Formats: sequence, C-alpha cells, structure tokens
Amino acid sequence: MPFDYAPAPESRSIVDIKPSYGLFIGGEFTDAKGGTPFKTISPATEEVLAEISQAGPSDVDRAVKAARTAYTQTWRRLAPAERGKYLFRIARIIQERSRELAVLESLDNGKPIRESRDVDVPLMAAHFFYYAGWADKLSYAGLGPDPKPLGVAAQVIPWNFPLLMMAWKIAPALAAGNTVVLKPAETTPLTALLFAEICQQADLPPGVVNIITGAGDTGRALVEHPDVDKIAFTGSTEVGRQIAISAAGTHKKLTLELGGKAANIIFDDAPIDQAVEGIVNGIFFNQGHVCCAGSRLLVQESVADEVISSLRRRLKTLRVGDPLDKNTDVGAINSAEQLGRIRKLSAIGEKEGAVRWSPPCDLPERGFWFPPTIFTEVSPSHRIARDEIFGPVLSILTFRTPDEAVAKANNTPYGLSAGVWSDKGSRILAIANKLRAGVVWANTFNRFDPTSPFGGYKESGYGREGGRHGLAAYLASNDGESA
Ligand code: NAD
Ligand code: MN
Repeated sequence: MPFDYAPAPESRSIVDIKPSYGLFIGGEFTDAKGGTPFKTISPATEEVLAEISQAGPSDVDRAVKAARTAYTQTWRRLAPAERGKYLFRIARIIQERSRELAVLESLDNGKPIRESRDVDVPLMAAHFFYYAGWADKLSYAGLGPDPKPLGVAAQVIPWNFPLLMMAWKIAPALAAGNTVVLKPAETTPLTALLFAEICQQADLPPGVVNIITGAGDTGRALVEHPDVDKIAFTGSTEVGRQIAISAAGTHKKLTLELGGKAANIIFDDAPIDQAVEGIVNGIFFNQGHVCCAGSRLLVQESVADEVISSLRRRLKTLRVGDPLDKNTDVGAINSAEQLGRIRKLSAIGEKEGAVRWSPPCDLPERGFWFPPTIFTEVSPSHRIARDEIFGPVLSILTFRTPDEAVAKANNTPYGLSAGVWSDKGSRILAIANKLRAGVVWANTFNRFDPTSPFGGYKESGYGREGGRHGLAAYLASNDGESA
C-alpha cells in the first residue's frame, strides 16, 4: 500500500435525533394508537438511533382523513401559483438544511456522505424546484386545458433513496393539487420525519403532507384504504404485484416502480477507461441498492479481458467503510435482511459455476457489510444473471455481435434501464431503439434529472415519474382521455 487516507469524518453534531418520534398527521406530531414502536438503527454500527411509531389501521385512517380535509378545504382551492410558492419554499429550506439532511440520511441508511451530500439531497431540492415551476402551468402539461388533481395520494417508498424517493412522490403530487400520506421504509424513517419538520417550517397548510411510519402492515393498510384516490409505490416486484391485485377494480389510480436487472453494454470501440468508471458507478453507487443498477455487464468478447482487468484494478482502489467518512466510496448494506439476500444469491452464483472475485478489503466488525464483488463466467441461465441482487455484486457476460448483445440485454423479466458504451453515435441510437428498457444511458450510467421521465417496462412496473410525464400520474385530464 503506497499511501492511505487519514480518516475524514463528517461531524454528526448538526443533526438532532430525538429519542422517539410520533406520526406526522394534520401538521402535528401525534402519538400512534396502533402497534408497538420499533427501533431504527445505523446499519454501519448497529447503534440504535431512535424509537419509531408503528401506525395501525386507526392511525392510517386519521392520516387519510387529515389529507382529505386538507384537499377539499385548502389545497385544491389555493391558486396554483400559491401552491408553487410553498414548493419553492420547501426547496429552499432543503438547500439550507442540506448538510443536516445528508448526515441523517447517511446515518440511518448507511450510504456514503459523498453521495447523500452530492447526489441525493441536491436532486431532492431540484425535484421540488422543478415541480414548483409546474404548479401554475398544468394547462401546458399536455393533459388537456384544465387538468384536475386526483385527491388523496397514498405513497409507499423503499429504503434505498429515502429522501429522493420522497421527493419523487411528494413534489409532483402537491404541484398538481393533491394531498399525500407517505410511508417511508421501516429501516429508514428518520429523514422523512425531518422533512415533516421542514413542512412545518414552510408553514405548509396542515394535512397537505402526512408522514406515517411502520412496516408492511402499515403500508398495506394505507394503500387499501378506501378513501385514497391514487397509489404510488416503489419497492419489490412481489409487493407491487400484491398492490396491483388489491387496487384492481377500485377507482384508485396506480403507479409502480419495481425492480430491475439492467444490462450495461460495452462495445469494443468504447472508451475503455470511461466505461470502467461507468461500470463502477453503475453497480457500486449506493452499494448497488439501486433499482436501475447496471447489475449485468455485457462486454464484447474482443475487449472482455482488457475491461475485466481494468475493472479489477479499479475495484482495488474503492474505499469501503464508515458512511460518514468523506473518502468512503461504498458504505454499509442497509439491513441484516438485505445482507442475507445478497450473501445467499452470491453463494448460489458460486454453486452454479460462476467465478467470484472481490478486491482485498477490511470490513468493519460491527454493522452490515459486503465487499464489491464481480462474477465472471456467468451464463444467462444462472440465478445471478436473472434475479435482482440489490447489492454490490456485478454479473459479467460476454457477447460477439450487436444482435447478440440486444438479445441478451432483453432476456429478463425486467425493463427499467440499460447502458450502451460505444464511440459510434449511430450504433448507440440503433441499439437504444431495440432495448426494452425505460431509460437508456449512452456513455454514462445512473444519471438522474428532474426533467427526465423515469420508469419501466414489464415487471419493472408502470407509469413514469419525473418530467412532464410524471405529472400525468397525479392529474385527471378533462379532454375525455385517460391521463
Ligand atoms: P418491500 O417491497 O417489501 O418494501 C418497500 C416498501 O413497501 C416499504 O416501505 C415496506 O414497508 C412497504 N411494504 C411492504 N409490504 C407492503 C404491502 N404488502 N403493502 C404496502 N406496502 C408494503 O421491499 P424490501 O423487502 O425492503 O426489499 C426486498 C427487495 O425488493 C430488495 O432486495 C430489492 O430487490 C427490491 N427493492 C427494490 C426497490 C426499488 O427501488 N425498485 C427498492 C427496495 C427494494
Ligand atoms: Mn436505519
């Protein structure tokens, strides 16, 4: 080891974590009448951070009622430009409190501060700014001259991007004139509860945003509540399927953002060094807890050895460890359950004959950790080539011709994202047109922008979030067509 970095920890003194939290209903924190509270921990140390309320059916009902009242009495009646002002105010407070949000996100989730500070929080603010601008321009959204809000939205989000997923859900819903009840994931509730304080600070009318905490049962009670008009869910395909069944035949409008098994395709004329950076960002960003992660590398056979040896060299420089250290590249796995899933699928990969490799790396003793891992000699029938691992594990396959690359890339029940690396613009466009994926990145990966719609085909879900398209999920067009 020629040299090493000194520790550069971000101070956590900026965050003020309370010992326990209630539910945020009707603009106030209230005690849950439902189940027993649970604890949220830091996955990097297993330290208990706070005790969290478990919303039961009567709490869910109170939250939906508060959202309904705010919808009919305040939010729907406000001039659209006034709604926009609240969203701009929230966006500015997010920027002002960005360090606090980033530190708390890294503590509760395990993601590196470099990412929460430079990616999650700035993108969260950008989504609020972007949709704030739409609030008084809905007639130009392409949904008819005077599109109407749907009513109360039930929103359930996962643990991988707690703040960003919340922004994707809440900003367009509010801009379009809906009110919301949002449930964060059970392992990462703290930043949603901090966002509730931000809503208070912004003087958002009570009941426009309600945050209820709990596990799957709370989520189910929320999405099955008869008085919600819209369900927005991000999470596993399995739960998404259950929700689609329970919402079928009701008046509820539904968007689902589910899993993925994206192909990242490297052609022999790609700039190899840049492609290697793109591969690393594609699968090791956020510990691979990314629905659109580039978890299947498809590399053209003639450059496979070169790409794989550069990739190995690059992986030896990744720093795994304390999420609050500013030099950390890969943080903690979000939960013991998720670590168990990653270990199990990786063991199956070895058993089925793929070759496993990780760089040497010292993992902390406490907490949940998994080293950056690549599998070579993967065949399309292997479980690790088909199942979403949702961890820092890359399956590498090779191809000879562009047609073979497309066939292998599309050989998945998912269809959320893909990446194409080539020097030829014409080849990128031709391949992108043939890929059954909602987002196709060209010579880059995992890039997000509030103006750009995001969403999947097939088992990756339906509906789009982001951009003008993201408004359609929260509006009923009045020109006789469904939005
Ligand atoms: P999950 O789908 O169980 O949880 C996601 C959210 O849904 C959480 O808030 C959870 O409390 C809630 N929920 C659980 N059951 C529910 C129900 N019946 N009705 C309503 N809400 C419910 O996901 P998980 O168990 O945390 O992760 C399992 C796998 O899902 C991961 O390994 C990964 O493959 C996938 N996943 C995908 C994404 C994504 O962004 N697409 C996010 C998280 C997990
Ligand atoms: Mn946690």
